[in-house]
Amino acid sequence: MLSVLIACAPKKAFEDAIYIENITVIDPLDGTKEGQTVVIKEGKIHKIAPSAELKLSSDNTIIDGTGKFLMPGLWDAHVHFAYMEEIAPRMFDLFMLYGITSVRDTGGRIELVTDYKQQSLNNPTKAPRVKIAGPLLDGMPNVYDGSDPGHPPLSVGLKTVEDVNNKIDELNEAGVDLLKAYEMLTPDQFVAVMKKAKELGLKVTGHVPLSMDVISASNGGLNSMEHLRNVELSCASNAEELLAQRRKMLENDKDLSGSELRSSMHEAQRETAVNNFSEEKAKEVIETLARNRTWQIPTLALNTLRAELFMRQPWWSESIQYLPDTTASRWQSIVDRMAGSEVPAFQQTYAAWMFKMVGQMHEAGVEFMAGTDTPIGFQTPGISLHNELVMLVKAGFTPLGAIKSATYNPAFYFGMQDELGSVKEGMWADLLILNADPLKDIENTRQIDAVIKQGEYYNQEALDKIRERLR
Ligand SMILES: [Zn+2]
Repeated sequence: MLSVLIACAPKKAFEDAIYIENITVIDPLDGTKEGQTVVIKEGKIHKIAPSAELKLSSDNTIIDGTGKFLMPGLWDAHVHFAYMEEIAPRMFDLFMLYGITSVRDTGGRIELVTDYKQQSLNNPTKAPRVKIAGPLLDGMPNVYDGSDPGHPPLSVGLKTVEDVNNKIDELNEAGVDLLKAYEMLTPDQFVAVMKKAKELGLKVTGHVPLSMDVISASNGGLNSMEHLRNVELSCASNAEELLAQRRKMLENDKDLSGSELRSSMHEAQRETAVNNFSEEKAKEVIETLARNRTWQIPTLALNTLRAELFMRQPWWSESIQYLPDTTASRWQSIVDRMAGSEVPAFQQTYAAWMFKMVGQMHEAGVEFMAGTDTPIGFQTPGISLHNELVMLVKAGFTPLGAIKSATYNPAFYFGMQDELGSVKEGMWADLLILNADPLKDIENTRQIDAVIKQGEYYNQEALDKIRERLR
């Protein structure tokens, strides 16, 4: 093969290519290969071969990869461009800076998220790939109705099944990549979302509606679930009783806003449900999720925020300097207050429950994607995904498993596994070069030497330029 290559492909064939020499390749499926030369040309991985076998031409840009590690660029599978308008314009740069080369936006005004998607398509070497869900499809009253800063208008409130069908047609025409079902949908509306999505060939992610249980949502065709939301309610020994109670609350508490109603229901039931955790019920739920391939995006750092307080780590303080001053100081003062007060006992229990559930699901073959919910929950875009990987390892993933959940898995979810998500010839060159082995310590994914986006090579100097722009 190699001799053929040398004989038939003189140096002209590799002109303008980037050669990364003598690097350790980390592929999420195949694991590690040392001493490789990776040739990048026209935005793609052109060739991978042992460095000892591949002859280089003096015309090429040659990068010494000795002691370094090459892995696929990362995905953050749960972001919101529309959540904080002051942060949104910096998100592309922050993602690129930290090697996040693809993102999945899980809810926001259609005009805004379409605009970000289009900007990304126009600048494929400067911005992460963007997949969008459009607004959350919610029932009435809708949770993210714009009533307060904590609940900006990320959702549409749909009154009827007909509303659901019309809205999905509209979003499909606007070019969404998936749909997101939300907590106030009625069971009839949920069924309508699934039916319409199937007709149009769209995936549906979401939160299990409060009027339903996890098993029927998964059996009904929900493709993925965010935050393990409302899973605890279906894993309680008294799950049926809790469901009946919720349906009553939805019926009776009509004068509350969507966010108040949802919070009141979580407050009324979450702690009880976790305290009544049933291994038997959980087993049934987990088996259903595995069988139906209902993917999980557990946003562990977000869900365990109060107990773990990741914001006390040095990387967090460093990261907020890239945010607008007003945001950074607002976040810092809330975090200081939080750090100075006692952690509510239930938050420790809930965090332990989260880690345990994610570990059990992973072991049972449920599929995962790494996602953060940035910029919600003090999660600085970009770096937060690296922290999420640490959380997944804490829940029982191997470092390679955690990396797979942020590379190959999201690519597979979108049917792009032949283009993205692993280090193979013919794939888009969305890559990350690290100075230390992430398989030895998952914290090493942030030891970034260079980021490559669709063939464009960002060395430290280029990354410094992004840092300067952000400051
Ligand atoms: Zn979210």
